[in-house]
Amino acid sequence: MPSITDLHSHSTASDGTLSPEALITHAAAQGLQRFALTDHDTTAGLAAAGQRAQELGIELVPGVELSVSWEGKVLHVVGLYIDVTHPPLQAGMAILREKRDTRAREIGQRLAEHGIDDAYAAAQAFAAGEMITRAHYARALVADGHAKSPQDAFRRLLGRGCPGYVAGPGAGLGEAIGWIRGAGGVAVLAHPLAYGLTRLWLPLTLEAFRDAEGRAIEVVYGNNTPAQNRKSAQLAREYGLLASLGTDYHGPKQGGVRLGELPALPADLEPVWQHLESK
Ligand code: MN
Ligand code: MN
Ligand code: MN
Repeated sequence: MPSITDLHSHSTASDGTLSPEALITHAAAQGLQRFALTDHDTTAGLAAAGQRAQELGIELVPGVELSVSWEGKVLHVVGLYIDVTHPPLQAGMAILREKRDTRAREIGQRLAEHGIDDAYAAAQAFAAGEMITRAHYARALVADGHAKSPQDAFRRLLGRGCPGYVAGPGAGLGEAIGWIRGAGGVAVLAHPLAYGLTRLWLPLTLEAFRDAEGRAIEVVYGNNTPAQNRKSAQLAREYGLLASLGTDYHGPKQGGVRLGELPALPADLEPVWQHLESK
């Protein structure tokens, strides 16, 4: 039986391709009953998502995925069960979004120097008035024939070491977790095995996250192999962390697993929602 819970997804408020309403409609149709919208550095989609979820009788967990810079690495920290009105969280995200815009312009300049003109405007059109991310650049580069697929765009043009690469903005680790906790939420380290951390850095990262009052990690993740799910479960046990799970859905044809097809968490781990509901 697949899990009826999915706590990691994106809408057009950041780099997903479905509107918040369409995303919730799809999630409900796929049998999900507890669903988090976790857009990058914004909660702009949550009101519309919440209204649709209420109409359809599913639980929307208010969430966000914050970009963090730590020890020269980029980490993603998901905040779940957040009060979106919390001023420090909103102020922090506003700064991150401003830096994302500066970065988006710099990517456009680098690509122009590489002979690809007008990529910023093209990416802006794909972002449709919301923040411009590298995913929008990837789609624009595919549409204009500069790349065969979004993956190809990342591999040759947008990824680390490529001509259009510009490092992304990030909050401090303690800072991001502080905003989430201040907003009454719980901080989850997203996809711990997706950062390319070495055997030295993976434990250091988990320790730092736990020391900064991070409470959970994503154990079952849409882009994990079954072996990676097992390894993540082992990490949750080893570090005494709660377990979360999520597809990281960005829309149809954006890679990863489909909604409603995630396996359930291992029975011995405490799910993050159960912990909160028991309080
Ligand atoms: Mn994304
Ligand atoms: Mn992420
Ligand atoms: Mn994500």
